[in-house]
Amino acid sequence: MSAVIFQQLADTFGYHSFRPHQEDVVRAILNGQDVFAVMPTGGGKSLCYQLPAKLMDGVCIVVSPLISLMKDQVDAARANGINAATLNSTISREEQRRIGEALPRHEKTMRGDYSTPQRQNEMELLYISPERLNNERFIERLKTLEIAFFAIDEAHCISEWGHDFRPDYLALSRIAEEFPNTPLAAFTATATDRVSNDIVRRLKLRKPLMVRASFNRPNLFYRVVPKMNLNQQLREFLSKRKRESGIIYRQSRKKVEETAELLRREGYSVLPYHAGMSDEARRQNQEAFSRDECQIIVATIAFGMGIDKSNVRFVIHGELPKNMEGYYQETGRAGRDGELAECVLFYRRGDIWTLEKFAKELEDPQQREFVLQQIRRMFLYADNQSECRRAMLLRYFGETYSEPNCGGCDYCCDDAEKEDATIPAQKILSAIVRTGEKFGASHIVDIVVGANTEKIRQFRHQELPTYGVGKEQSKAYWKTALNMLIARNILNVDDPERPVLKLTDAARMILKGRQRFEMVRLIEKETKERRQSAADLPTLSPFGQAVFETLRELRMLLAKEAGVPPYIVFSDRSLHEMALFLPQTDGEFLEITGVGQHKLELYGASFLSAIGKVCETKPEAAEASRKTFKSSKTISMSRPQTGAGDAKPHITPTIEESLRLFQLGHTIEQIAEIRRMSQGTIAQHFEDAVKFGSLFPPERFFTMERLEQIRQWFAESFRDAEGAAAGYVLRLKPAVEASGGELGYDEARLARMLFSQERIQNK
Ligand code: ADP
Ligand code: ZN
Repeated sequence: MSAVIFQQLADTFGYHSFRPHQEDVVRAILNGQDVFAVMPTGGGKSLCYQLPAKLMDGVCIVVSPLISLMKDQVDAARANGINAATLNSTISREEQRRIGEALPRHEKTMRGDYSTPQRQNEMELLYISPERLNNERFIERLKTLEIAFFAIDEAHCISEWGHDFRPDYLALSRIAEEFPNTPLAAFTATATDRVSNDIVRRLKLRKPLMVRASFNRPNLFYRVVPKMNLNQQLREFLSKRKRESGIIYRQSRKKVEETAELLRREGYSVLPYHAGMSDEARRQNQEAFSRDECQIIVATIAFGMGIDKSNVRFVIHGELPKNMEGYYQETGRAGRDGELAECVLFYRRGDIWTLEKFAKELEDPQQREFVLQQIRRMFLYADNQSECRRAMLLRYFGETYSEPNCGGCDYCCDDAEKEDATIPAQKILSAIVRTGEKFGASHIVDIVVGANTEKIRQFRHQELPTYGVGKEQSKAYWKTALNMLIARNILNVDDPERPVLKLTDAARMILKGRQRFEMVRLIEKETKERRQSAADLPTLSPFGQAVFETLRELRMLLAKEAGVPPYIVFSDRSLHEMALFLPQTDGEFLEITGVGQHKLELYGASFLSAIGKVCETKPEAAEASRKTFKSSKTISMSRPQTGAGDAKPHITPTIEESLRLFQLGHTIEQIAEIRRMSQGTIAQHFEDAVKFGSLFPPERFFTMERLEQIRQWFAESFRDAEGAAAGYVLRLKPAVEASGGELGYDEARLARMLFSQERIQNK
């Protein structure tokens, strides 16, 4: 049994080991036990039900709350060669009929040994929305099917205690009653015990396996930055991350619009997302983000659920979130692929007032107290300068994290540089005293730097002895110093409406020279060092980086052709490994995390050839990188190599099969039909075969005229810079576009195959 599970893990998903608890859940489901699993976002919940679905007789019914989520999940499952579909309101009748036919009927006998493959084309995963289970006819229909088990995604939606209660989910309590012999597996990323117990009760789970994964996300780097000038700080942050996808959370619609506009003017590809936009506009923006067509999304917390994108590299908060749970969930959207991602909270104390003001307006005293408590907890996290942030976050969820250095937060990683700042502090404090403790921070800073403002002239503050005593330092420096005095409770800001600075006893001590004041300057370590500590893969060399970029472009192209988000083609993790290890053969390609049989078939040739081409440009760098890889232990190479002839490229059995059918005289349409593959895949097989020396008679595909016409379109498209820059491969998309609708992708692919055959022959 073990062998079968691991074989499936590798063949279908391209993974070589399980993430924590996945294996337990998979085994429980295979044994017919109910499951309740709490796993953080990115913990790998989908695999927990997709893998058993692949192995068991019958279909797995997955309940999922959002249509957009279902669609991406189905695309991702299909990309791995899993037969998946969704039934929801957007599906046409025709499609519904087709799905209905592919669903397994009851009368089949159990095999139980998981050793024989499922019937061809039989549906393995069916995603449905919860309200279906309110429909008697639908339930009756389900009863005629052979159902392997039910999987409930986002199970917390059934709990009114949860943050995302959906009345539709209440219908799910019927499953256990109506299907007493079918196992039920529920999944959630929500952590509280109260919600957990509620879910188990409402779903009526029967002696479930209870799983609770750690909420630690080792690849997330947590940082809190004092907020000075947010716009400037955002610019600076983004300027170092030109190609990385990220989310910027802001508190209000207005701020969302402002930041989005600012960044757009700076030339970033950025879109807003908030509850004030139409459903359609939000859907479009989310999709553009998912598809890497927009780099950054600026959003209120309305944005999040329903986004499966795995390559979010940073999540920024422009304001203090309301509570730790929210903060954890929002930052959790970063780095699902396991690659390093950054979570930055820009924080100033004043933000608490806004939150508290809102909380104090709550009528119910109990609720008000609860909300205020939550804010205080959040504040302690942000204000903290003495403890690992990861430890604090995990403690909130009842976990103890006791590593002395987490390697992934500002407290543990940044070098703190202390400098004595007693004199600068005295300058600020004396400016406050001399103006009668009646002014706010910006005016005080203006006095210290000697600014010439209307307010200064109005109060004749240019005549004060402290006016301009801090000219030698920048305004930003004084703001930092002042914020730090506030942060350490040396200055008080009593009234949030009129933020006037007041001295405390500690301030008076400093002023009298009886106490020192130290400024701590955090020196952000180089990204490189940080990556090293938080991620488990070595960083890329400049050459590796170049390979990564090439592969990223190729991924984008293939994703567009297939009409799916790029992360569904391959995750950043997969590309990173490819760029490090530079696979040359199908066997090596299969070693990459995320490459299963289906993806090898779909994309292997394109990626191997792209990698080969870049390596030719820098053979020494490529050789060096390969050598390091071979001796590196970071990646498990435990899987048996396929065949002995791995050193040389070879034709895989699946390509051979397509060739055999072709030689028997079948057309490409027929081969696709027989093999239940797309024509594109068969064309890809032929393309690969050409590389290994096969020859195809062009007349079996095209008339001479047609071929010349297509050649023309390729030539035209090649003239544009994009096509030429690609270099490694004649691109299909530009040619298809150049044809103005007359050329399809499959045809283009076949033509391209013939052209490369010509090139080989002419060599
Ligand atoms: P969740 O639904 O729990 O947020 P997903 O199922 O979306 O998580 O998985 C998150 C990411 O982790 C995906 O990119 C998935 O491909 C990857 N993943 C899941 N299981 C494994 C595994 N065993 N090894 C490597 N990557 C995995
Ligand atoms: Zn830490």
